[in-house]
Amino acid sequence: MDKLIFATGNNGKLAEVKKIFADTGIEITAPFELGETAEVEETGSTFEENAFIKAEAIYAKYKLPVIADDSGLEIDQLDGRPGIISARYAGENCTYDDNNNKVLEELKSMTGPHTARFICCAVYFDGVKKYSATGKLEGTIIKDKKGANGFGYDPVFVPKNMDKTLAELSMQEKNKLSHRYKAFEKLKGLII
Ligand code: IMP
Repeated sequence: MDKLIFATGNNGKLAEVKKIFADTGIEITAPFELGETAEVEETGSTFEENAFIKAEAIYAKYKLPVIADDSGLEIDQLDGRPGIISARYAGENCTYDDNNNKVLEELKSMTGPHTARFICCAVYFDGVKKYSATGKLEGTIIKDKKGANGFGYDPVFVPKNMDKTLAELSMQEKNKLSHRYKAFEKLKGLII
């Protein structure tokens, strides 16, 4: 295999995954680099289902091996929310800040530590074979937002055994411990 399509519209993720596959010689391209703009609707009820929905939609278009992922944050005291609706937790078209504020507000009256984890499910589909791999990053949600790097829930999440939020880490530091890194490293081992 010399080429994989990564079903993402996110440039940051694309750069991260290109780096992970750099040692394989496999070229990674995203649909948007091929002129495709349509978003796939995530109608599944698990990270894995949503990842395969994206992979299968892109495979149907290009008939080339595809990788895809779906990820989110699970907070124990919120019964696993925001989970698969992490991107739109505060409503359709909400910002990352809206989502963080909603989570902080919901946890405000609860006693800490607010244990949580980021989960990423990375999948492969080539029309016949299907592989799936999960990566997790354990940590806690803090009381106030801290840090300006990263995206999403990074400013409110402190990884286990660390004293900085993900938003206070450099991209290189975060990418070495992230749920996505772990999931795609595992997936790479299944594919090659
Ligand atoms: P996606 O569907 O994999 O793009 O991720 C869904 C949502 O999960 C994002 O919009 C973020 O809110 C959240 N999320 C996923 N990964 C991360 C991360 O590494 N840091 C912060 N938030 C994340």
